[in-house]
Amino acid sequence: MVSAVFFVSISKAVESPAVIQTSGSVRSSTVRPLLNLPSPGEIPPNSGGSRWNPWIDKEDSVQAYQDIVTTYDFGDWESIGKSSSGSYGGDPNWDIVMFKFGNPNGGIVMIDTDLHGNEYYGYQCLKSVITWLASSSDADAVRIRQNNYVLVVPVANYRQGRTNWNIHSTNDDPAGGDLGVNLNRNFSPSWSAMGSGTDSYSGVSADSERESQALINAWNTYHPRVYLNIHQGVGPSVMVTARSTFPQAVEDVNAIDTLLPQIQSTLGSLTSGQENSAWWGFNAGSSYGQGYSKDGAASRGSVGVLLELWGNEWNSDNAAYKTNLESGNTFKQLKAMFISMCRAVESTTQSLSTMTGQWHHQDSVLMTPMHFSDANLQLKFVKETDPS
Ligand SMILES: [Zn+2]
Repeated sequence: MVSAVFFVSISKAVESPAVIQTSGSVRSSTVRPLLNLPSPGEIPPNSGGSRWNPWIDKEDSVQAYQDIVTTYDFGDWESIGKSSSGSYGGDPNWDIVMFKFGNPNGGIVMIDTDLHGNEYYGYQCLKSVITWLASSSDADAVRIRQNNYVLVVPVANYRQGRTNWNIHSTNDDPAGGDLGVNLNRNFSPSWSAMGSGTDSYSGVSADSERESQALINAWNTYHPRVYLNIHQGVGPSVMVTARSTFPQAVEDVNAIDTLLPQIQSTLGSLTSGQENSAWWGFNAGSSYGQGYSKDGAASRGSVGVLLELWGNEWNSDNAAYKTNLESGNTFKQLKAMFISMCRAVESTTQSLSTMTGQWHHQDSVLMTPMHFSDANLQLKFVKETDPS
């Protein structure tokens, strides 16, 4: 059935002409390239019970986004690179797929999930947000479709575990096999050799992995104003990097920080009373990691954000968690963050001068980064209690 859906979408794409003449004007049409995707059963299951088993099979995860595109005739996709071969048997060369929604001339927000292949709550929640974006007549959805270009890589890593390969002797990546690379330890400029023999292994060198190179390819091609990298396991929490050498990123992060609380309030995001109800702030200044993708994106001028959207509690058999991710508080929180990011960078952005007097960066951190290399600079933004 999945293959049938896949073929329908591809044949539709193949039949689409590159340019359509309409009433004397010319507009581009969507050409959706043929993709090499895993077939059901091709990605080895792990032996860890339900803990790492997503609600949507990994093999179907990209196709579920293709279904959004075809169902709502909204968006487009492209391959930004190929997966690592791992020990799947042979070299599958699966496409790492990026979906593109909205106005190509709008402010760009890029989001990925599954960089750690076992952290599928982010995939589940983001898919609901993108479905809302594609289908809703809400003013927020309409505004984003008009003013933003939203780039989504739903499966940055096809592996079921934390690395891009099978890995020896850890309970968290139980399929066994050969050593793999933890992709969120692999990126320049904050890369360093670490974790050999564990599922935090950073790889032989910075940006060594195909998956890392695919994301870098997308950053270099599209220059997203905001890059959001979604995880689970120690949250909810948010880490943000914007570099002082990119004033636009500094402006954008302040704008997001200003917008988020009011949008959370409008959406009724909860602070207590159900699972995962902790408030989501946009507080920069918590620790940053070595080789994180958010820092790679920030080094190219984006606001780089790592979101841990759920704490260390994993249970794919829990229907309440699934509801929470798809329509409950976690959905509302991610939606609020997404709307804030989109609005902060939409094509009619606020000028920096309109922000003056409301928020500013903490000069002692921003301007005198003697404790950090600039590449690793973690900015902390604080609200002025007494603007002057
Ligand atoms: Zn993670």
